[in-house]
Amino acid sequence: MNTAPPADRPTNDDAVPTVGVLALQGAFREHRRAFERLGARVVEVRKPAHLQGICGLVIPGGESTTMAKLMRAYGFDEAIPAFHAAGGAVWGTCAGAISVARDIDGHPDQPRLGLLDLGVARNAYGRQVASFEADLAVEGLDASFHGVFIRAPRIVRVGPDVETIARFEGDPVAVRSDRVLATVFHPELSGDDRLHRLFLERVCLVSVDRAPGEPPAAAPSDAPASRP
Ligand code: GLN
Repeated sequence: MNTAPPADRPTNDDAVPTVGVLALQGAFREHRRAFERLGARVVEVRKPAHLQGICGLVIPGGESTTMAKLMRAYGFDEAIPAFHAAGGAVWGTCAGAISVARDIDGHPDQPRLGLLDLGVARNAYGRQVASFEADLAVEGLDASFHGVFIRAPRIVRVGPDVETIARFEGDPVAVRSDRVLATVFHPELSGDDRLHRLFLERVCLVSVDRAPGEPPAAAPSDAPASRP
């Protein structure tokens, strides 16, 4: 595998990293707030041009079939893999984790980006426990992370190059491979920004060194993603 970043890799050599949140549908505002609390600039990505200049993209939770239709309608089915191939990082949460997976059990025709060698089963925690919360030990975090699971997919297969960084009752619930992170729970809903920080620092490879108490970077939603 060629690991050298291509020349057109989105860069953030500016002091403040810029990250994108796919804003077609679902829980994107909470992700935005979490990144802003960390001092990152956030772009709400509504069309492929908004991928320019961001170091990483979050695909939020929501409804994966609806999101897949919207992604195709707006051209993200090609633009997101191209962004990833050019060096961009991607984090799928819940429905977003379904979108980045290679296989979706029982839904072979559901469009997906297939960026991560993963098999998932949608809504597979069963009716009784469709939504639940659990404290998770996440590799790389000093203390447990409170995971909020909402009709979460179950990860049923993990490829050889995919690293499991958290489990719930034996099942992988947070996994990563190079520039792709997937979590089947909703880290944006627990008021704990450590996974957002982990994504920026360990997956996007940018630093967020905002001193505690410093105001968030000014980031109007319609600001251009690229640096002046
Ligand atoms: N069950 C949803 C799906 O299959 C995902 C739920 C979520 O994102 N909270 O799309």
